[in-house]
Amino acid sequence: MELGYIGLGAMGRALARRLMLSHQLRVLDVRQGLLEKFAEKGAIPAENGASLARECDVVLICLPRSENVREVIFGSGGLVEGLDRGKVKVVIDQTSGNPIETRMMAAELAEKGIIMIDAPVSPGPEAVEAGTITIMAGGPPETIELVKPIFESISSNLYYCGGIGNGQVLKLVNNILSSTCRLMTLEAVALGRKNGLSLETMTEVLNRSGGRNRFTEIMLPKMIKGEPSVNFAMGLMLKDVNLATQLGISCGVPMFLGNVTRGLLQAGVYKYGEDANLDDIAKLIESLTDTTFRE
Ligand code: NDP
Repeated sequence: MELGYIGLGAMGRALARRLMLSHQLRVLDVRQGLLEKFAEKGAIPAENGASLARECDVVLICLPRSENVREVIFGSGGLVEGLDRGKVKVVIDQTSGNPIETRMMAAELAEKGIIMIDAPVSPGPEAVEAGTITIMAGGPPETIELVKPIFESISSNLYYCGGIGNGQVLKLVNNILSSTCRLMTLEAVALGRKNGLSLETMTEVLNRSGGRNRFTEIMLPKMIKGEPSVNFAMGLMLKDVNLATQLGISCGVPMFLGNVTRGLLQAGVYKYGEDANLDDIAKLIESLTDTTFRE
C-alpha cells in the first residue's frame, strides 16, 4: 500500500517518522522547511493534496482542527481533486477533531467511494517514539481491519471505539479529564505552597499517596527541573475542551467541572496566546493564587 501523511507538526511528524521506519511515505505540510527535512530522511514531498491522492492508497492526516482537515480534503488542490485518476481509498484522520464534522466529511467521502476512519492518539510525541501511543479508532470494522498493519507499525495499542467519530469522542473524554486533572493538581499544589510546603516535598509525598496522578508523576518533576512536560499548544487543548463541553450540551451532560476547566483554559489563552505551551497554564494558577510553584 502506498501511504501519504498530511500535517507534520508536533504530533504528525512523530507519527510520520514512526511510519517511515517501515513504509515509504509521501508527505505534505504548509511549511516548506518541514517538507525539506522529511525529504532529507527519504520521504517524498507532495505538491498538494490532489497529487498525493493520485499516488496513494491510504492518506493519514494530523492537523490542528477539523476545519483544516476539511480544507485539505475538499478545498482547492485538495485530496478529492486527485480522485478521478487517483488511488486513495481510505483517509485516516488522526486529528483530535470534532466528531460531528468528521461524520459529515465521512458521509461526503463515501459518496465518492472513499472510506474515512478517525484515529486520534494520546498522550504525545514521546509515546510515538517509544511505540506505545494509544490509537482510538472509529469507522467500519472491516476497513479498520484492512489498515490494522499500518496502525500496528505505529503502536500495538490500537482500540476499536465503534462507528466513525467515536475515536474522536473518546479523545475528547480523555482530554477534558486530563485538563481538569492538570488544573486540579496545580490548584492543590498552590494550596501547599501558600502554606509553606516545597514543590519537591509535595511531589515526592503525593507520588506515594492517594493524590498520585499523571501530573504529579510527570508534570511536577519537570516543573522542579524547569523543563517543559508537553509540546502541545494551549489553544489546541482549549479547542478539545470546547468541543467536549459542546458535546455535553448536545446530549444533556451538565459538565460542571469541565466548564470550569474550559473557563480557565480560555483565560490562559487570552493571557498567554493560542500558541503558548500548555505548561504555561501553571503561570495562570500562580497569578490567581498569588504564589509561585518553584522556590
Ligand atoms: P501543530 O500546530 O504543531 O502542527 C500542525 C501542522 O499542520 C503545522 O505544521 C501546520 O502548519 C500544518 N498545517 C496547518 N494547516 C495545514 C494545511 N491546510 N495543509 C497542510 N499542513 C497544514 O499541531 P500538533 O501536531 O500539536 O497537533 C495536531 C493534532 O494532533 C491536533 O488536533 C492536536 O490536538 C493533536 N494532538 C497533539 C498532541 C501534541 O502533543 N502536540 C498530542 C495528541 C494529539 P502551520 O503551523 O504553519 O499552520
